[in-house]
Amino acid sequence: MKAQAEIEVYIGLGSNLEQPEAQIKSARKEIAALPQVAECAFSSLYRSAPMGPQDQPDYVNAVMKITTDLSPMALLHALQEIENRHGRVRARRWGERTLDLDILLYGDQHIVQPDLIIPHIGIAERAFVLYPLEEIAGSDLVIPGQGTLAQLLAACPLNGLCRLPA
Ligand code: ATP
Ligand code: CA
Ligand code: CA
Repeated sequence: MKAQAEIEVYIGLGSNLEQPEAQIKSARKEIAALPQVAECAFSSLYRSAPMGPQDQPDYVNAVMKITTDLSPMALLHALQEIENRHGRVRARRWGERTLDLDILLYGDQHIVQPDLIIPHIGIAERAFVLYPLEEIAGSDLVIPGQGTLAQLLAACPLNGLCRLPA
């Protein structure tokens, strides 16, 4: 079978347990080391207030750009394996976690499958996704079906998001 062309993909990383900054930094290395994946860019780390249950620590977030010829499902499974290696436990919805890896964008594709929705759901309302994404992709980036990043940012307050020192 002919290899698929390399696609530009953005991944959102989040953690609020067990040394979140270290979780994010090691996940970055593990993603970059996946076969058929090359790292292109990595945002600053950001601190954000939790979504959902408020009785949990603040999150550390970042966005990573890769190129890959993994299919969307193969990439999702590879990212889930990394989450599991980081001791990810799914308890309550939007609850605390050692590591969350979301596929934000996969080229300009729209994907709606039972286990995979791209662009990632909620992207437009999440400051902790949009601002790090802007840092590495620029505000002209088009979010398929939703306009440019500039348009989404104009409607998305920071909600207390702050960039952590390097
Ligand atoms: P949210 O998806 O609202 O950010 P969450 O990250 O806490 O919440 P999870 O428990 O990590 O949700 O994931 C639930 C399911 O979401 C996963 O089992 C996965 O199949 C599905 N999913 C759908 N689209 C995506 C995507 N683009 N990236 C990652 N997972 C996705
Ligand atoms: Ca998530
Ligand atoms: Ca997730």
